[in-house]
Amino acid sequence: MTQYETVIGLEVHVQLATHSKLFCSCSTRFGAEPNENVCAICSGMPGILPLLNEKAVEYAAKLGMALNCQLNPVSIFARKNYFYPDLPKGYQLSQFDPPICGKGWLDINVDGQTKRIGITRLHLEEDAGKTIHSPATNQSFVDLNRGGVPLAEIVSEPDLSSPAEAVAYLKTLHNIVLYLGVSDGNMEEGNFRCDVNVSIRPKGSSEFGTRTELKNINSFRNIQRALEYEIRRHKDVLEDGGAIVQETRLYDAAKNVTLPMRSKEEAHDYRYCPDPDLAPVYLSAEQIAAWRAELPELPSARLERFMTEYGLSAEDAAQLTGERALADYFERAVAGFPQPKRVANLMLSELLRELNQRENGWDECKLTPEQLAELAKMVADGEISAKIAHDIFSELFSQGLSPKQYVAAKGLAQISDSGALEAAVLAVLAENPAEVAAYQGGKTKLISFFVGQVMRKTKGQANPALVNQLLQKHL
Ligand code: ADP
Ligand code: MG
Ligand code: ZN
Repeated sequence: MTQYETVIGLEVHVQLATHSKLFCSCSTRFGAEPNENVCAICSGMPGILPLLNEKAVEYAAKLGMALNCQLNPVSIFARKNYFYPDLPKGYQLSQFDPPICGKGWLDINVDGQTKRIGITRLHLEEDAGKTIHSPATNQSFVDLNRGGVPLAEIVSEPDLSSPAEAVAYLKTLHNIVLYLGVSDGNMEEGNFRCDVNVSIRPKGSSEFGTRTELKNINSFRNIQRALEYEIRRHKDVLEDGGAIVQETRLYDAAKNVTLPMRSKEEAHDYRYCPDPDLAPVYLSAEQIAAWRAELPELPSARLERFMTEYGLSAEDAAQLTGERALADYFERAVAGFPQPKRVANLMLSELLRELNQRENGWDECKLTPEQLAELAKMVADGEISAKIAHDIFSELFSQGLSPKQYVAAKGLAQISDSGALEAAVLAVLAENPAEVAAYQGGKTKLISFFVGQVMRKTKGQANPALVNQLLQKHL
């Protein structure tokens, strides 16, 4: 049977976090009343003159820099002509040739291996409006609020070779976008969305197979599932002696299938032509240098620094920097209690679990980094046991209480008073004469059994080192 390999290339649309649209002063706010944020320019009235939003240019350029792209000193807006009700001008303003950013690359990490993925280009364009169909009344409505909102489109080379690599690329890119603050990256609101191009070919073949394109999938998980489905479909078609048709398909998440939407031929001739109303975009070397100087520390640099400055393992550093909010939290907590490994451990076990378990993640986290630092310090100082820290974490997370006050109020402080512990130790020994005899006969491994019993008796509050000492003494 033929062995196949997968080829994937992604086109990602990132909505840039400007206050106003790309060519007019209308607000970009999400959730407004239909057609609330619309003017003559973004509704495509005759005789309008677009005016380019400089902030959008800055954001696109900075994103390009973070993706190691060449910045073009001159780029041009073109009209991409097609007809659709949510595009009243009859064309979309988009950068065709040259775009603001040319070739670049992005390193991704899959199963501990780093792979460099080529970026073909990054260009600026305006979003279209939204058409809403009402099957009940057999009507269609057009909402132009989104029309004219600035997007950066990032096109990758067909360098990705599995669904896992595609998802890793998207997560890495998403993280960079959030680090830069050029977009809120909200996938549910469509502010970070992705078209997926996929094909397969016999292993080792130098030619690409025919590709299909999956449109606008809005979660990492669905991208993975859509790709897995589509790759299997390609294999089935080829193994049945059929041929893949180059077409655009829609992913139906509820049924986990892809369905044909339109064939490529119908969609193609956009008759790109430079827009006569918009001047070319000029970027001077000084401007580029000034923006470069403003770039924040990016995830890859931060990962390196977390290893050198805080002595974290590569794995822990990667987890903590994999999300800007987590990395920021970590640095604030370490400022409060400068023992990075202890802080990292507490975050990666307790905090991450809470974040992952809850529907709204960070929105539900009321525990401040300073409070987490306080908790880590209490464990380090032996004021509470690690077990108590674990038991109370969920409560602290959702209530945002001071760990010190909470522990005092609930009487959970670790028992380090040998008098009180000695009584518990003696009671445990008296209750387990058979084990005591076995221990004294040489089964010294039973020590952990006794420690466990004392812990139970003290509801996890005993200082384990002290318990050990006392047990040794009395056995
Ligand atoms: P279009 O503009 O028609 O979508 P492009 O040539 O710009 O076409 O390619 C879009 C995306 O498709 C790019 O990300 C590219 O890497 C990817 N791509 C091109 N050919 C293939 C292929 N045979 N298999 C998978 N992906 C491909
Ligand atoms: Mg495409
Ligand atoms: Zn407008």
